[in-house]
Amino acid sequence: MSIKINRYKCGYCGACVGVCPSGALELVETWVEANDCCTSCGLCAKICPVGAIEVNK
Ligand code: SF4
Ligand code: SF4
Repeated sequence: MSIKINRYKCGYCGACVGVCPSGALELVETWVEANDCCTSCGLCAKICPVGAIEVNK
């Protein structure tokens, strides 16, 4: 897993969870977590309206 989610920036909108093709993102209480299914495709980072996700390829 090579994405970073900034918990302080995240607005908890859920957009990234819906767009992830691998089902790697999960809303946990008031933040988002990525699991090992992440393929670093970068879609979540593109969809995030506040730029809270950083993908390292
Ligand atoms: S980089 Fe792609 S696979 Fe990984 S969490 Fe984001 S949308 Fe899902
Ligand atoms: S798209 Fe961005 S703001 Fe929305 S839940 Fe995901 S990380 Fe948070």
